[in-house]
Amino acid sequence: MRQWLVLLLALGLAACGDPDTSAPERESVSDETFDEATERRADAAHMDELRARWIELEHAQHQPAPATELPPEPDQPPVALPSEPVSAPVSGMAGEYPVIAILIDDVGHSLTQGRRLLALPEPVSLAILPHTQAARTLAEEAAARGRTVILHQPMENGAGLSIGPGGLYSGMPAAELQQVLRTNLDSFGHIRGLNNHMGSRLTAERPAMDQVMQVLRERELFFIDSRTTHHTQAAFAAEAAGVPHLSRNVFLDNERSAEAIGRAFDRALEVARREGQALVIGHPYPQTLEFLEWRLSGDLMAEEGVEVVDVVELLGRE
Ligand SMILES: [Zn+2]
Repeated sequence: MRQWLVLLLALGLAACGDPDTSAPERESVSDETFDEATERRADAAHMDELRARWIELEHAQHQPAPATELPPEPDQPPVALPSEPVSAPVSGMAGEYPVIAILIDDVGHSLTQGRRLLALPEPVSLAILPHTQAARTLAEEAAARGRTVILHQPMENGAGLSIGPGGLYSGMPAAELQQVLRTNLDSFGHIRGLNNHMGSRLTAERPAMDQVMQVLRERELFFIDSRTTHHTQAAFAAEAAGVPHLSRNVFLDNERSAEAIGRAFDRALEVARREGQALVIGHPYPQTLEFLEWRLSGDLMAEEGVEVVDVVELLGRE
């Protein structure tokens, strides 16, 4: 775990040219496209497009820099960082082969999509949105197949976009925030952990993240930081609270074409070979489902020397 923090710092220092300049511009640009979209929405077909735009907006700040998969961490005070030298090795334990874990977000709206994920030959984990129509059924079916289920917790974003029911917002009193979170955690079964849906605003707020981590610790759940902002405090709050945590390395489908998804997957393999492991987050888009059905049907270990493992196993390696 600490090694990850060290890595984040090292990459942040190495890659941190002027990390603050691009994000606000991108957000305001994306705001306009969202407004245009909201004018045209209203029918169900547009909802998927809207959701994609939200995700694109949330992920826009995380197009990887040429030299690194991980965005810089400009805001972390030195005091929050571990004491190991930044040159400490970050690869998996000696003799172990590289691994990737794949987590698919935004699950719960469609039973059919969810079942396609569960039918994949590798242990792909599901991050299920609270209060969605297929949440309970998919959680049950995933657990029956031995797949890991986590809560995909909606959190406020910096552009004021809708985050759906069960959302956590900046300025919520601690008791209310924790009550909403507990209600979400009780809304379907087999939840092992939590990751943030959107959240570019809320994850940057350390007090709110501390409140979230308090509940996760209470319930012995882990946390995955989707990293929708450079300024995220979530992993630091998790570390401070003693909550097991991981951070996303690669978004699989920021760009929804087979070629782009393939390139993102290859980047994840490179990260895994370099660092021992990588966490990939994708979404239940038709293109992503088709890609995973094709790519995971082969023997990744034989072809690439990288094994797909459950996200919980990745946590165990930290
Ligand atoms: Zn999401």
